[in-house]
Amino acid sequence: MSVQSEQSRRHRVVVIGSGFGGLFGTQALKRADVDVTLIARTTHHLFQPLLYQVATGILSIGDIAPATRLILRKQRNADVLLGDVIDIDLEAQTVTSRLLDRTTVTEFDSLIVAAGSGQSYFGNDQFARYAPGMKTIDDALELRGRILGAFEEAELSDDHEERARLLTFVVVGAGPTGVELAGQIAELANRTLKDAFRKIDPSEARVILLDGAPTVLPVYGGKLSANATSRLEKLGVEIQPNAMVVDVDAEGLVVKDKDGTERRVDSQCKVWSAGVQASPLGKQLAEQSGAEIDRAGRVHVNPDLSLPGHPNVYVIGDMMALDKLPGLAQVAMQGGKYAAKQIKATVAGQPVESRQPFKYFDKGSMATISRFSAVAQVGKLEITGFVGWLMWLVVHLMYLVGFHSKFSTVLSWTVAFFSRGRGEMAVTEQQVFARNAIEHLHDYERARAAEQLGDPTAVETGEERERAAG
Ligand SMILES: Cc1cc2nc3c(=O)[nH]c(=O)nc-3n(C[C@H](O)[C@H](O)[C@H](O)COP(=O)(O)OP(=O)(O)OC[C@H]3O[C@@H](n4cnc5c(N)ncnc54)[C@H](O)[C@@H]3O)c2cc1C
Repeated sequence: MSVQSEQSRRHRVVVIGSGFGGLFGTQALKRADVDVTLIARTTHHLFQPLLYQVATGILSIGDIAPATRLILRKQRNADVLLGDVIDIDLEAQTVTSRLLDRTTVTEFDSLIVAAGSGQSYFGNDQFARYAPGMKTIDDALELRGRILGAFEEAELSDDHEERARLLTFVVVGAGPTGVELAGQIAELANRTLKDAFRKIDPSEARVILLDGAPTVLPVYGGKLSANATSRLEKLGVEIQPNAMVVDVDAEGLVVKDKDGTERRVDSQCKVWSAGVQASPLGKQLAEQSGAEIDRAGRVHVNPDLSLPGHPNVYVIGDMMALDKLPGLAQVAMQGGKYAAKQIKATVAGQPVESRQPFKYFDKGSMATISRFSAVAQVGKLEITGFVGWLMWLVVHLMYLVGFHSKFSTVLSWTVAFFSRGRGEMAVTEQQVFARNAIEHLHDYERARAAEQLGDPTAVETGEERERAAG
């Protein structure tokens, strides 16, 4: 174990996470008289709102995931540590992170916790294997593999029913991510893959978007929701509202409709975009501080985003619960900047009591349906169609980090929007099978550990569990 506790005379800030909250918080401390250590489990900052374009072959991972170390290369007071944070000790003021078998303990005077959220399966985590979510680069690449792999398998099949199953894509959750993904799978099938196969017609693919709510984009409602519905239907997306998923397996899912009847949908490729669960670090913080957490695992923070009883610890972005603020990039970015401002004030000797509460400035939200079509809500203004899409384009370019990302994204978009092509259609075997391979690796590790304990029978592998379950 190495201890990163150089007796620095400067105020030490630790930031957990290199997402919107963590990165923007770190950058806002650029000119502050502090030493910042940003700890994250990935080497990159990820622009999650465009993950669906990686999954559907429009963008490369480099476009939306620039290396954090390179972004911060000129910020001399910032250091980047790769590692999975496994423990936060509020009393000792330390953060413990792990990279492979190396453990690092980092001391802090102030802490910004911005570890974001993961997918929630509402207590049915076993669904994840067959209906992965889309939260990370790995998820997006795996999905690209599953989507394109389904078309390839369908081309090889002579069985009508099997082909139909392979060409049925189900997106669970009709929020912005589900809508964007369903729209793009439909465009992929109808435009990009047109004439690319000899036996199958990709445009015969069914894209089903289902949700337990009565409409798509329920947070927008009204005109925007209706507009999104009609655009999606024009693209050929089947919208199935009031539909709850009750089971998922390798070959399909079981859906319960509003009237209580259950039906099966045969589908090879399922995607989950139905819920989020905040990082488990929130629970750790709550247990140590007595703060409350909500059902999505978010920590109830004070109006200055600090943890109750710990004015030097800020919980921001998708991990915080405050004034029913949504899990949006802007909430995280503004939270990061706000926390940085409070830290600077503390270093300047200002008392905690003088802090002004965090005020979120709502710049609006938007979702694309297809190329040249989006819905956007800015204050009371509701914008649809091409104008909405132009707004979407400008806003996303503005917030992509770094010139390289902006430039390469514009090039990729030009190809995708003005021709039938998409520049990122390659998939590797590793991407398609990554999740299973990792599971097998865990099984192998558990088996080895049990063997070392002298009890090789104590371990049940994933395959054995499945066999036992029939
Ligand atoms: C597919 C998708 C589409 C979206 N579309 C939009 C959109 O159009 N508009 C919008 O405003 N918002 C959108 N969002 C939401 C938005 O991306 C989030 O609200 C935002 O990223 C939250 O920022 P954050 O800093 O709290 O967390 P994140 O950006 O998720 O960052 C969390 C960071 O913490 C790191 N981390 C997590 N756990 C650990 C650990 N234990 N140890 C070390 N590091 C850790 C992660 O690697 C990551 O770097 C979308 C989200 C997704 C998934």
